Amino acid sequence: MLNILYAANPDDWDEYGAQLRVAFDEAGLVCNLIQDAANPEDVDYIIYAPSGGLDDFTPFVNAKLVQSLWAGVEVPTANKTLTQPLSRMVEPGLSLGMADYVMGHVLRHHLGTDHFAAAKPGVWHEGLIPPLAQDRMVGILGLGALGMFCAHKLADFGFQTCGWSRSLKTDDRVGCFSGDDGLAQVLAQSDILVLLLPNTPDTYHVVNADSIAQMRDGVAIVNPGRGPLIDDDALIDGLDSGKVSGATLDVFAIEPLPEDHPYWVHPKVLVTPHIASATRTNTACDVVAENIRRGEAGELFLNIVDMKAGY
Ligand code: NAP
Repeated sequence: MLNILYAANPDDWDEYGAQLRVAFDEAGLVCNLIQDAANPEDVDYIIYAPSGGLDDFTPFVNAKLVQSLWAGVEVPTANKTLTQPLSRMVEPGLSLGMADYVMGHVLRHHLGTDHFAAAKPGVWHEGLIPPLAQDRMVGILGLGALGMFCAHKLADFGFQTCGWSRSLKTDDRVGCFSGDDGLAQVLAQSDILVLLLPNTPDTYHVVNADSIAQMRDGVAIVNPGRGPLIDDDALIDGLDSGKVSGATLDVFAIEPLPEDHPYWVHPKVLVTPHIASATRTNTACDVVAENIRRGEAGELFLNIVDMKAGY
């Protein structure tokens, strides 16, 4: 009998507990799903999120996998007690939600919706016809599970798409770039830039004064990735100078975004409170069960995190 410790948000326990049991049954796993581990050395798998409060993995000497319920893994990768394999969450509901967010906000910038929303009543603005999607390039920094999924949805809609990742990808519909030169090419050709990179030392402030200077005049930026990807002062300067036409920001260096932060009142910034997407319990439980089934069958785990790279 496997012992599986649920160490994610206790408020979600009822929902996860019920759905995990169904998923484990369907995967043929005979297990004991627990919320407290009286004997940590008996725990085989840990289902984890930072909101669960577990921060010392040392006693779980026999745990074969720590399965994160979150896609972003900057908290566990910084935890020196975590020596067990860590898997990040990749699941269809999370991807679909992110694609909805990205598509919605890319379209807002594409159509100039905010301009009309802010227009004075009675003022008839003629001639502001947006270009066709096929004549607009959307660049995506980060072509991982979420970035590539969103890129394909944008391409399906008709946008031109390009993207940047650490390792070079090949794709029929998305122009793929890597390295410093590749980043410069994505920045130079994107009308709308979407940030879907993880928060690592290498991605810190990838949007800064230098990179903004390389972007197209009037570029719009959508950031559902992580706050530290952006040097906030540089972005505000870019917005104020007109170089950047607008920004939709879902994630911030400090969350909740402090009440006195200039983003809240900036006329070219839309703040959303880290709601771009979230793990969906039903589809995530299937992924958790599949990974545990793999572990028990001696197969490779899915979505293992490279602790050194930080994602
Ligand atoms: P992922 O599959 O790990 O993809 C990350 C992508 O970033 C990969 O393409 C990777 O390149 C690229 N990358 C990493 N470091 C890089 C570097 N130094 N230079 C260039 N490219 C680099 O992650 P994901 O599942 O798509 O998630 C992306 C991020 O979205 C998460 O880390 C999280 O921060 C954020 N997120 C936000 C929300 C929200 O609600 N706002 C929800 C979920 C996730 P390779 O392909 O070469 O490895």
